Amino acid sequence: MRYAILADIHSNLTAFEAVLSDIGERGGVEEIWCLGDVVGYGPDPVECIKLLRQYRHLCVAGNHDWAAMGKLDTSDFNPHAAAAAHWTARHLTPEAKGYLENLPLTLTVDDFTLAHGSPREPIWEYIISTYIAKANFSYFATRYCLVGHSHVPAVFEYKADSDSCLLHDLPPEAPLKLGDNRLIINPGGVGQPRDGDPRASYAIYDSTENVIYHYRVPYDIEETQRKMIRWGLPISLANRLSYGR
Ligand code: ZN
Repeated sequence: MRYAILADIHSNLTAFEAVLSDIGERGGVEEIWCLGDVVGYGPDPVECIKLLRQYRHLCVAGNHDWAAMGKLDTSDFNPHAAAAAHWTARHLTPEAKGYLENLPLTLTVDDFTLAHGSPREPIWEYIISTYIAKANFSYFATRYCLVGHSHVPAVFEYKADSDSCLLHDLPPEAPLKLGDNRLIINPGGVGQPRDGDPRASYAIYDSTENVIYHYRVPYDIEETQRKMIRWGLPISLANRLSYGR
């Protein structure tokens, strides 16, 4: 079976569509595993939820999904993210709200735990260091954990013999063979990459080969930016898409 691992779509329909067509060209998948933040920042929250729901999928809640629902206070957001969250809240349909309302914090499927930020703090915590990653290995029972939130592709590996944690890159097109060691894997962000590469980022897990493939997909960034400007979303959020920061 093949599964697409998508994180941080962030209302970027153009990027999401490009990723879906890339998945199609690579032979498709049985199911999408979505790691939260379907909405927030971008111009097409309702359309992204609608499109995701057309596919067999699992999805956990992200901080921006919660913010759009009023489930968390945006005072911890930077002003532009907060403005986008309020804009998103105003544009959600009752159906879209109902979908976001029911997203779980974590899910377990096969050998994987799915969480937006981290298994320890699914909504808020960023796994951006081996120190934070190492602490999180005791918060999930499966061999592997998939997270988003930082929008930066990465693999954290727990070494039981030395009780240490290593950080690896997840280079595009280079397969990650899953072995005995426990891993926390971030596929990067679909709708707002932040590793300096503006192309959409996602992964495919092939359970037969026991391999994760990481892909980068170019999309029409200017189309998303035009929509954001038309809706009056903060210009800095539109600009950052050009740089992948
Ligand atoms: Zn995000």
